[in-house]
Amino acid sequence: MSLEIRIYGDPLLWKKSKKVADANKSIQSLIDDMIKTMYEHNGVGLSAPQVGMLMRIIIVDVGGGLTALINPKILSKSGKQIGEEGCLSIPGIYLDVKRAQDIVVEGLNKEGVYMQIEATGLFARALQHEIDHLDGILITERVSKKRLKSIKAALEKIKKHKGGKSG
Ligand code: ZN
Repeated sequence: MSLEIRIYGDPLLWKKSKKVADANKSIQSLIDDMIKTMYEHNGVGLSAPQVGMLMRIIIVDVGGGLTALINPKILSKSGKQIGEEGCLSIPGIYLDVKRAQDIVVEGLNKEGVYMQIEATGLFARALQHEIDHLDGILITERVSKKRLKSIKAALEKIKKHKGGKSG
């Protein structure tokens, strides 16, 4: 099933997601729906809060295959990278965001098996972006006030047209 993506302006996007207690069938089915939704929108990542579920679940595919993580946690970060990021919840907006170059992240995969992943470059960037969503942080919170001001009108437009729909 394809899910509706919450758009900038929806207050849910700024809320903190809760840990998943049990990686059961309904969680797996939610992940399947998230995967379908992400590919349909040509995204490289998606988090559960973006589809209206305040649960710590992310999926990422930057071209090297799909990674699904339940309760992801960054164990270590090193290096720096700055690169352009978009977000399925903020259509049409691309911002340069500073991230760690390398990270080690732990979590459970779709089957509930514990995993540790070493990620670098774009993969590390996408994981950090999605994990941010679980803490209610959007790319608009990762840029300077000045940069944010420069896209204020565009953001208001997105809010007006797409957001607010769900409260
Ligand atoms: Zn995003």
